[in-house]
Amino acid sequence: MSSPIPINMRPSSEAGTASPPMGHSPSQGYLDVPAPASRREPLWCELERAGPIEPKRQIFCNRSLSMKQIKAIGWDMDYTIAQYKPKSFEELAYRETVDKLVRAFGYPKSLYELQFDYSFMTRGLVVDKRRGNVIKVDRHKYVKVAYHGFRLLTREERNEAYNRVAVRDEFDEPDYSMVDTLFSLAESYLFCQLVELADKDPSCIPHGRAYAPIWRDVRYAVDLCHRDGSLKREVAANPSKYIHDDPHLVPMLRMLKRSGRKLFLATNSLWDYTHVVMNYLCSGLTGRRKSEEWLRLFDVVIVGAAKPGFFSERRPLFAVDPSDGSLRNTDGGAPIIPIGLDDLPADNGGSTASQVDLGDEDKALVFQGGHYIDLHRMLGVSSGTEVLYIGDHIYGDILRSKKSLGWRTMLVVPELEMELECEAQFADAQDEMRALRQQRDDLADEVERLEWALANGPPAPPAELEQRRAEGRAAVEALRARRQEVKERHSSMLRAYHEAFHPVWGRLLKTGYQNSRYAHQMDRFACLYTAQTSNLGWYAPDRAYRGRIDLMAHEL
Ligand code: IMP
Ligand code: MG
Repeated sequence: MSSPIPINMRPSSEAGTASPPMGHSPSQGYLDVPAPASRREPLWCELERAGPIEPKRQIFCNRSLSMKQIKAIGWDMDYTIAQYKPKSFEELAYRETVDKLVRAFGYPKSLYELQFDYSFMTRGLVVDKRRGNVIKVDRHKYVKVAYHGFRLLTREERNEAYNRVAVRDEFDEPDYSMVDTLFSLAESYLFCQLVELADKDPSCIPHGRAYAPIWRDVRYAVDLCHRDGSLKREVAANPSKYIHDDPHLVPMLRMLKRSGRKLFLATNSLWDYTHVVMNYLCSGLTGRRKSEEWLRLFDVVIVGAAKPGFFSERRPLFAVDPSDGSLRNTDGGAPIIPIGLDDLPADNGGSTASQVDLGDEDKALVFQGGHYIDLHRMLGVSSGTEVLYIGDHIYGDILRSKKSLGWRTMLVVPELEMELECEAQFADAQDEMRALRQQRDDLADEVERLEWALANGPPAPPAELEQRRAEGRAAVEALRARRQEVKERHSSMLRAYHEAFHPVWGRLLKTGYQNSRYAHQMDRFACLYTAQTSNLGWYAPDRAYRGRIDLMAHEL
């Protein structure tokens, strides 16, 4: 029989766990895991023959993709190529946001005393701005776990608010906000703390108990931190504190470039920051030692891409001079030579723009802004289906590019590494849980049928009827008791199983047995998904990724 998983039973009967206090002790979270191995192991292409690929390095396929059709491969930078260390990066974002709230938004100085626990939040949650809740939703929009501040809602409260309503919510903006990037962990945690403060003492918060304006302030403050350089300056001064290095990144990029693909980077970060991060990751160079060498790994670099607008709105494209970050106008990427003093006497009234020819370029050309059509032209692709784009943000990187442009997509989900490890560890327990679930349902079915037969059985003489009923009732009682036993064992195993993944919210990709809303979006929008972008280096560049076989309920 399977080995039972350690059942850490809590009094709560919910799939989530008991309410943690504001400073509950951090436990191992998803994000402790994704650090790439710091020692580089040889990639398959450097070995004599390819061996099996361990699960954490595997690329999973939702929709078949033949790499032979792919002419250009692009990457997002933040949280895709650059994996931040959320413990330090989000702590920094949290501190800076608190500072902005106090100094610019009139929040009390007592906020400086709050502590941030980076392991409390996880991706895939939804912030309910109006109610001051954070919730976990399954793919059918059923809310399975909900916290108000840090108080776990009872099943009754949760059903009342979300599940037993005339029209099920879509859980979209403007009333809801998705925690769909790792950048959102700090702000959603801070929101819970402010909700708790507002409930305790509404007079200390500028908006009292109006939670939606509190969320708006937090968002503004976070935006400010990203824009005024407070985060980026600190990361630039000490990249190793904030960014995981990935020794497999450069060999992977080189391999793909050697395979004849055009490589590009399309990031929303601006040039100064992109240059810092890419130097650190590709050359290990920091500060004044930075160089333009990393540009040799790419054909085109687009900074300040303003995704997802990049996929739909025409915006001017500027050429960036990598030596000083200055911008020049372009005509869809072709340089427009500015009029200088020397030009004045010349008789050249026409345009001086010419086509960009990437073929002769050793280093990537760097641009800011623009539109995907500019990029297609520079890469020489005729259709979106020839582009594979790799990003971490379902909405900003994956959804639009796939839906509107037909780009093929790969989602980077660092949490997957821990999901896979945990799943393997609990394989036996999963078998046992499945068996218990079946047993529970079979017993319930038996009870229901027996009860129906007792109430609606064929007529008989009174004495016989009485005896039949007495025996039937005894049988029903015994079955009920057995069902209760199985149900409790099953529920506690399921709870412990989810807690092993994340002590507060359970598995990222599941809500109970259903796919979580986040998993559902991954399934719909990402052709491929994997834990680290450098995992591409473990597969041949011409690999044909095959989609999984769809199964309907009767085929399982
Ligand atoms: P990408 O993922 O490489 O496209 O870059 C993401 C960029 O967006 C980084 O420069 C982040 O600093 C920035 N960013 C992330 N979250 C926010 C936000 O909430 N407000 C403003 N900028 C953000
Ligand atoms: Mg990103």
